Amino acid sequence: EASCKRFEIEAEFSAQVLPSPGVQSNKGDLGRLLLVCGSYGMAGACLMAARAALRCGVGLLHLAVEERIYPIAAQAVPEAVFTILPWRSDERACEGLLREALSKATACLLGCGLGELSEQACPPVFRHCRIPLVLDADGLNFLSRHPEWRRECQAPLVLTPHPGEMARLLGKGVREIQADRLAAAGEAAEKFQAVSVLKGAGTVITSPDGRTAVNPTGNPGMAKGGSGDVLAGMVASFAAQGMPLFESAVAGVSLHGRAGDLCAERFSPRAMLPTDLLEALPELFRGD
Ligand code: AMP
Ligand code: MG
Repeated sequence: EASCKRFEIEAEFSAQVLPSPGVQSNKGDLGRLLLVCGSYGMAGACLMAARAALRCGVGLLHLAVEERIYPIAAQAVPEAVFTILPWRSDERACEGLLREALSKATACLLGCGLGELSEQACPPVFRHCRIPLVLDADGLNFLSRHPEWRRECQAPLVLTPHPGEMARLLGKGVREIQADRLAAAGEAAEKFQAVSVLKGAGTVITSPDGRTAVNPTGNPGMAKGGSGDVLAGMVASFAAQGMPLFESAVAGVSLHGRAGDLCAERFSPRAMLPTDLLEALPELFRGD
């Protein structure tokens, strides 16, 4: 019974579950994704997640970023609209802005490069988010520091930790996580009632209902800062377009790895960059 719910992801999976826009589609039908990401010193994480989300087809992208990175973000992602967060303030100052932004979104990604903005930006999102919420990086670190916020949060959740982040979430060591990756992903799914993605070679995706997938794509050329931000943007983009969360995570992980494999062939694992993944995505979707 348990074993028939576990599968290795096949290349066709993504094509079968991806939303395909009809000829009559307008941008409002294709999802509205809110990113609460980036901070002074980590603007790139937000920008890579944003560009990945756009490349995966989301109709409208809304970035909530702190004022000090707004100029560079606006230039790097002209497709987005912005909410500008005051950086040296408290959660009260962000509360109204984020609540308003969440009210218009169909999914939210919280945490990539959020850095010192985490303590002021995470509580309002946890409190007001009722749409699918993808937590990555500093969003996960916030949850590790304040697990009590899980109970405050009514959003359907996806967690995308690397082994270090998973170790903090579960209060274990990285070695213990890596010794049984299926068990770790399952424990996180159960503990946080979230679709849990344990990244690294052979990424494991587990749903709270027990479905588990293992990803065969990807390569060590992806072990570079920024790869995870691209993945988070992809998963959030699919969720914003209305795909169920487990399917969004599985398709995102599979396509992200396939993009990595194209880049490794083209540029070598050594020289390929996370930003190259963004440029490889159109090739994966060309047959759609
Ligand atoms: P992060 O650590 O958050 O930057 O995420 C790194 C991303 O690259 C994750 O999606 C990992 O699964 C992927 N990745 C890193 N190293 C490997 C590897 N050796 N094989 C396959 N994927 C990898
Ligand atoms: Mg990361």
